[in-house]
Amino acid sequence: MTKVLKFGGASIQDVDSIKNVVSIIQSFKNQKLVVVFSAIANVTNMLEKVVDDFVRQDSNPLVTLNQIKELHHNILIDLFEKEHIIFDTVNNLFLEIEWVLEEEYNNEYSYNYDQIVSVGELLSTNILSAYLELNDFSNNLLDARDVFKTDNQYQSANINWELTDKCIKEKIKDFPVVTQGFIGCTSENFTTTLGREGSDFTAAVLANILNAEKVIIWKDVEGVLNADPRFFSETQLIKQLSFIDAIELAYYGAKVIHPKTIQPLKEKKIPLHVRSFKDINKSGTIINSEINNNKKPSYIVKENQVLISISDLDLSFIIEEHLSYIFMLLSNFNITINLMQNSAVSFSICIDNHSHKIPLLIEEISKKFSVYYNMDLNLYTIRYYDDESISKVISDKKIFLEQKSRNTVQFITS
Ligand code: ADP
Ligand code: ASP
Ligand code: MG
Repeated sequence: MTKVLKFGGASIQDVDSIKNVVSIIQSFKNQKLVVVFSAIANVTNMLEKVVDDFVRQDSNPLVTLNQIKELHHNILIDLFEKEHIIFDTVNNLFLEIEWVLEEEYNNEYSYNYDQIVSVGELLSTNILSAYLELNDFSNNLLDARDVFKTDNQYQSANINWELTDKCIKEKIKDFPVVTQGFIGCTSENFTTTLGREGSDFTAAVLANILNAEKVIIWKDVEGVLNADPRFFSETQLIKQLSFIDAIELAYYGAKVIHPKTIQPLKEKKIPLHVRSFKDINKSGTIINSEINNNKKPSYIVKENQVLISISDLDLSFIIEEHLSYIFMLLSNFNITINLMQNSAVSFSICIDNHSHKIPLLIEEISKKFSVYYNMDLNLYTIRYYDDESISKVISDKKIFLEQKSRNTVQFITS
């Protein structure tokens, strides 16, 4: 049966880590494999900067583009002989970005974003596929855009399941397959992206449609922990998680899994194994349909949050009509609410700081309401909280807003 392996940026950040990934993949030799890669570490962020410089026209996008070129070139010269065709392939992919940058900006931010940022995954997969070949691991490089058919909601495109199902079954016949996470294609053949960190979702969709035996995502951590080790010094491995608990953790922002990943796996009861690419002897975390009653606190932090408080200009109640107008604006801007709270005179929302969208959103809301906002906040969520876990999180922080339910407490802090 098919196994889907997904490697994120952190696992392919330099020559040594790429060699490590190749040896992991080789250990699955002779199995029916689909291997999904993200862009090389930090490349998506750098490509986002290229897009922002292009759009804002205040600094030259070619400066960052050249850094991205250099980063890839340095990897190529260590992995391949000078004559290898991969050098041309990589140059041609960069040309695609340069063509976009040569055009006048057409005010279609998200469209341009997808045309430019998607190249990160095309670069990494071409390099990895060629390097696997060089190491006697012959493979079929599949362009994910030939099978992931989406609508044209650029930057967070939704896949057309029916078409994608058909294309995947038609195109994936010979294994092993290497393909890109995170990207897809509209019916007019324009490239789309599925939302930041979307490669996990790509792996889950492939597994669902191919009725895979399991998905393994390879991380720089031992597995799913009860907190992000970047923020908490003492973390514990969660050896097993139910699909439902995993959906909740991902929904609240545990960066280790993309929120959309679990549903396609849950539907077909396909286990998700989260493992360390640094230590393949560690057992990692299994996410499956078993319900676990061991409810210890888990901590999730979402950084770079904006808290917007909206009130009526004459301080009357925020009534349903107002709320529906605000929701319509959020939907038009394609902004997801991370937390909301209503009081007699105001309605507050906590959202990610999408740098180019927030000023426009605030401008729009301010046409009808008075608006206060705070930037640079953190949203802390504790699942299965107790007094000790709460004091651990909030003891030294200024709280802007708090929300508690039976299982979950959330704090917005500075
Ligand atoms: P990649 O993009 O390489 O697949 P990410 O960097 O997106 O990987 O995800 C791995 C990171 O997720 C870890 O390095 C860790 O900092 C962070 N993380 C956040 N919450 C958790 C958690 N609950 N368990 C493990 N890692 C977590
Ligand atoms: N490369 C994309 C990102 O960094 C997608 C992914 O890594 O899953 O968001
Ligand atoms: Mg990631």
